[in-house]
This record gives sequence, C-alpha cells and structure tokens, in this order.
Amino acid sequence: MIDKTKSHYEVIVIGAGVAGIYQIKLLADLGVDATVLDAAGDLGGTWYWNRYPGARFDSESYTYGFSFSRELLNEWHWKERFSSQPENLRYLNYVADKFDLRKYMQFNCKVDAMRFDEANDRWRLNIADGRELTCRFVIMAVGLLSIPTPPRFKGMDKFKGRSFHTFYWPHEPVAMAGQKVAVIGTGATGIQVIGEIADKVGDLTVFQRRPNWSAPLNNGPISVAEMADIRSRYDEIFATCSRTPGGFEHEPDRRGFYEVSREERQALWDRLYETPGFAIWLRNFREIFTDEKANAEFSEYIADRIRRRVKNPAVAEKLIPRDHGFGVQRVPMETHYFEAFNRDNVNLVDITETPIVEVTETGLRTTKRAYDFDIIVYATGFDAITGAFRSHRHPGHRRRKVTGLVERWSIDLSRHAGAWVPEFFHALGTAERLRLDELSAWHRDRRQLVHQVTSVHERAWLHPRRTYAGGRTTLGRPC
Ligand code: NAP
Repeated sequence: MIDKTKSHYEVIVIGAGVAGIYQIKLLADLGVDATVLDAAGDLGGTWYWNRYPGARFDSESYTYGFSFSRELLNEWHWKERFSSQPENLRYLNYVADKFDLRKYMQFNCKVDAMRFDEANDRWRLNIADGRELTCRFVIMAVGLLSIPTPPRFKGMDKFKGRSFHTFYWPHEPVAMAGQKVAVIGTGATGIQVIGEIADKVGDLTVFQRRPNWSAPLNNGPISVAEMADIRSRYDEIFATCSRTPGGFEHEPDRRGFYEVSREERQALWDRLYETPGFAIWLRNFREIFTDEKANAEFSEYIADRIRRRVKNPAVAEKLIPRDHGFGVQRVPMETHYFEAFNRDNVNLVDITETPIVEVTETGLRTTKRAYDFDIIVYATGFDAITGAFRSHRHPGHRRRKVTGLVERWSIDLSRHAGAWVPEFFHALGTAERLRLDELSAWHRDRRQLVHQVTSVHERAWLHPRRTYAGGRTTLGRPC
C-alpha cells in the first residue's frame, strides 16, 4: 500500500485515467518508485467522470483497449463494437486490479500547485489536503478534456431543479421519466445525450447554437465468435491503427475523387453510411479533406441524409451546418439523433435566433419566451488540453524573473504547454495538430517515459486560439 506520509518519489504521475494507468504499469515494471495522484475519488479519468446517458467510445472498443499484455487481450471480451461508459470503467478497473496497480494510486488528491525547486533539483507539489510531495520527475496524464466549461448564464445558481454539466453527471441514476429536460449544446456529447434520452423523458428541449455534422455510429454487439476472430487479428488491427493518421482502423479510399463517376462516389457513401464508426469520415476519398468542391459534394450528400431522416423540413435545415464542411472537425457519431427530432416530445430551439437570456428558478428564458424545466443539462464542452495544465498553478505564472526554459513556460502556457520544462513530461506532447496517431498509440506500445517534443511541434502552438484535433471544443477557452 502507498505510504501517504511519504514525501519523495522518483516519479509522480498526475492522472489515473487511461494514460496514467499505463504510465504506472511501465514505472512499476521498471522498479521506479512512483505514485499516481488523481483529484477524483477513483481511477478512470474521462470514464470516471462522464457518466451521462449515451456516453460511449467512438473508436472501435478493441482498438481503444490497452495492447501491452497478450494475456489481457485474450481474456477481455468487448461486448459492443463501441463500448459504453460503465463497461469502459469496468475495464479500466479490471486492468488496475489484474496488474495490482491500485496500490500506487492516491485519490481525492488534487494538485493545487507545483514548482521546480532548482536548489534541490526536485518538483514540489502542493496537494489540496495540505501535504507537499516531492519528486524528481512529473508526468502529466491529465487528459485532453478534463476541465469542463459550463456556460455563464445569469441566474444559473437560482434554478431550483437539477442541473449539471455532462462531465459531472451524478453517480447515482437520474430519474428522467416524465421529466421536462433541457439540453444545451449539440457537440459530440449533446448528440449522444439527446439520442439516448429522447424516448425516456417527458419533454426534451434542445438549445442549439451551431449544428454539427454527424453520422450514424452503427453500434452493435460483439459475439463470442466475433471476439475470437478479433483476438486472432489483434496484431494486424494494431498495425493498421499505427499507420493511419487518426490511429483508427479505418484507411482512406485510395481512388481519386475525380477518377470515379458521381454514381460510384454515391455508392461508396451509401455503403459507408451503414458502416460502423468513423468509416464515413476516414474511409472516404482523401479529397474530402483537401478539396473544397469535393467536400461540398460530400457535405451535400450528408445534408440530404439529414433531410431524409428529419420529417419537418424546417427542423432538418436547422440541423444542417452551414459554417463548415463535413469532416473538417472531428465528427460526432450518433445513434437515433436525427430521429429524436421527429418525436412529439422533442423541441429544437435555435439560440442564434432567440438567445438564452437567463436561467430562472423554474427553467430558463430566451429573448422569445420562458421555459419550465425539471432538469437542465449543460453539454457545453471543455477548455481543451491547456485547461488541465492551467488548473495546476505553475511557478512561471508568478515568478516572472525565472530564466531560460521555465521563463518560456511562464510567458503563455498555451504557447508550448510545457515543452522543454526540465523533468516534466506529459502524455499528449505539444504536437502539430495534436498528432492523434501518437496520442492513441501512447497507451498502446510505447516504452518510453519521455515524449520527445521537437521545435516544429513547439511552433505549432504559436496560434493558441484554435480548435483541438479538428474538434470544436476550444483551446485556451476560459472556464
Ligand atoms: P463541444 O464539441 O465543445 O460542444 C459544446 C456544445 O455546446 C457546442 O454545441 C457549443 O456550441 C455549445 N455551447 C458551448 N457554450 C455554449 C453557450 N454558452 N451557450 C450555448 N451553447 C453553448 O463539447 P463536447 O460535445 O463535450 O465534445 C468535446 C469533445 O469531446 C469532442 O470533440 C470529442 O472529441 C470528445 N467526445 C467524444 C465522445 C466519444 O464519442 N467518444 C463523446 C463526447 C465527446 P457552438 O458549437 O456554437 O460553440
């Protein structure tokens, strides 16, 4: 068991999510004296927090799991192609227990501040419970999306019903039958929640600022026989994931967009629309990402799909994005999302036309009218990536006089996110366009503590206000 009074470790890992679990496994195997700290009450990171209805992988489950142990691969049965939050959390607990990793973990341990004590060559971490822990190396495994950004509507604290950001969805079941529910936000999270709860609540009102492109997830069970087949192909599956830009098992169609007829393109898209996961995005023609005309033709194809699925033409048009083409941002995958808007109990409010003015004791008010709700769900996203770094106070924020690398850190965290800070590593790197392939490969088979950051990577961060990984949630967005 961990000695909680002990102050010095060789390595402190911050975050007991997917990356943190793998880091401590590697450190334990190397015999390094290390601990993992997490502000949460238990392990799991994103899968500990996001318990909202509909939360599930958009990666194929068997490509998301750890690959470091053949034994683990052989014994774990992914029950669904895109596994849901409870099962994902069960998996992470299973891994921690199987490899006896819990003994290295400390929960309810929020790191409030950390500074590098140059005289003694060690990091000093202030924990919210009053302790100071020291170590030689810090590894940040704090996740991409761990600082939620609830909106700042006037009167939010006055609401007498229940309200929560999806990240903080309660651990106990939330009774929704017969309830009047508002969902604010139609990103990947809102789209999952709406599709899942539309037929379970009394009334659902969706407040949409901008629509997102979305396509069917096409989830389904994985039978024992299918799982046996997947196990026999794990090496091949991981090899495919390693060579694709996104780290998924989907590879682009190598034919040129203009080399095939319009009918052949449509035939491919018809097939992909029915194919599970990101196939519609990543098995597509490569020109979708590089050629505006090609992207426009494909976006129109998806828009037509939306028109075919949503009965009310005015609502359908509201659900079709106009400010970007399909796939230029990470695509939220949906299950019955568009059909939800055909239900009599579901109402779409365009808050670009009638903005939300305030939250009231009984609901909320737009410029047009007041609404009563029992539950308000804020699916309003995250302060992506840099938010988690900003949440720990670092010396550079206060000590303007420090020189060299730490000074560079102090100028603007979002510029380099820790690049070149001594004895400080993080599982995401400051990669160009986030290098999602590396990110997903990180927990797969990398045997390294140091994530190399090149000056090219550092330069990629000189534009701090950008969307992350092509998604919409914003870098450097204040909470
Ligand atoms: P998001 O993509 O940032 O979406 C937030 C939504 O809330 C947007 O529709 C946004 O509208 C809206 N919003 C934000 N502030 C608002 C305000 N003050 N008033 C009204 N509306 C507001 O966040 P997310 O849906 O949580 O997704 C974030 C990322 O998490 C995704 O890109 C994805 O990578 C990941 N994710 C993955 C899965 C999965 O399947 N594995 C599931 C969920 C999330 P605007 O667009 O107009 O800003």
